[in-house]
Amino acid sequence: MHPKIKHFVCRACQDTLPINVNLFRRGMNVDVYCPLCGEDYNTQNHIFLDYRLAREVSTKSHFRITTSERSRRNFEDWCFHLYNTFDGETKGLIFTLILVI
Ligand SMILES: [Zn+2]
Repeated sequence: MHPKIKHFVCRACQDTLPINVNLFRRGMNVDVYCPLCGEDYNTQNHIFLDYRLAREVSTKSHFRITTSERSRRNFEDWCFHLYNTFDGETKGLIFTLILVI
């Protein structure tokens, strides 16, 4: 897996990605709602699991990530599940897809 992808996954699992809610927690004056839909807080769970476009990308992708795989408790659990389910090359492709989202 490319080091940039590993770094992304590591930060995602620690919930330290520079998304609005995390920036707000660090004291920055940012809008905590999703800038794309405005329907929920801009959290990792919203961006990667709940947001309509994210769901469509993952379920319609070549990997066919199913609803049951998406229904993990949170994004970190979902990453952990994907990391332990797929082989090295597939794992790298899936996390690259998630990074692009
Ligand atoms: Zn949204």
